[in-house]
Amino acid sequence: ATPTALMVGTGRGAKLGILIKDGEVLERANDVDTIVFDKTGTITVGQPKVTDIIGDNQQVLMVAARLESGSEHPLALAILGEADRQHFEVTAVENFEAVSGKGVQALVDGQQAFVGNERLLHDYEITDDLKQKMTQLQDEAKTVVLVGLQQQIIGLIAIQDTPKDTSAAAMAALKVRGLRTVMLTGDNEHVAQAIAKEVGIDEVIANVLPAEKADQIKDLQAKHTVAFVGDGINDAPALTTADVGIAMGAGTDIAIDAGGIVLVKNDLRDVDMALALSKKTFNRIK
Ligand code: ADP
Ligand code: MG
Repeated sequence: ATPTALMVGTGRGAKLGILIKDGEVLERANDVDTIVFDKTGTITVGQPKVTDIIGDNQQVLMVAARLESGSEHPLALAILGEADRQHFEVTAVENFEAVSGKGVQALVDGQQAFVGNERLLHDYEITDDLKQKMTQLQDEAKTVVLVGLQQQIIGLIAIQDTPKDTSAAAMAALKVRGLRTVMLTGDNEHVAQAIAKEVGIDEVIANVLPAEKADQIKDLQAKHTVAFVGDGINDAPALTTADVGIAMGAGTDIAIDAGGIVLVKNDLRDVDMALALSKKTFNRIK
């Protein structure tokens, strides 16, 4: 494309709320055949709520809320929100530690306690009954965290985040364009599949640790030209690794800096719009 065509393209993007940082990214967008999406905050609203508590409700929620009071993870905010709703007094813990992609641990009244996924609690026995309950909740597209206290799993908390209104339409538009859509998430396979089915995503890569997201993109790049769409701090490496990094405008500053394209309106349908813009710019004048 000529410099003029590029200016027209990026200018038109800006008007639509699609910030394109340079012409090269717009050019690479023309070759994209695979679009990878982060789940929480990108496909979903990102404001999960507690829906079910299994076990001694009061104790399970209290231990979990005390542990999560040091975390800013969306799941932590959901648990703290529920504790607040039930007027719990959430008192401090000691030796707090957040384990990336797994959960948090601390001493609660001198007792070792955990809240997180199976990767964090793999040393703990989980009864067949709890395991079954957990799978059932996950198949309902709910993220389940396990709560552990003194070598025992004392309960489960199910947390649900709903897809954005526009996610399904966004995927449908990309499909019309003949593109493959992929969800990349640290969440469990069952939950990821349930949400993928709801919004119409072709493929799921689940149980990915934050540090592994960029490697997953590299693997896909062996055969494909890849765009990645994300919003979180831990999405930044994947955003810079992808051929085209697309950040949600409501995302963290770190994600916005890492993205070559920023969707100011936070509308996932603008992914398709950005690709259309690229096609227009690069197919007109060669
Ligand atoms: P995503 O890829 O959906 O943004 P993360 O990588 O942040 O997810 O987290 C992956 C998983 O790690 C969560 O689904 C949850 O099981 C666990 N986890 C992470 N942080 C916490 C936390 N503060 N409390 C409970 N579980 C957590
Ligand atoms: Mg996210």
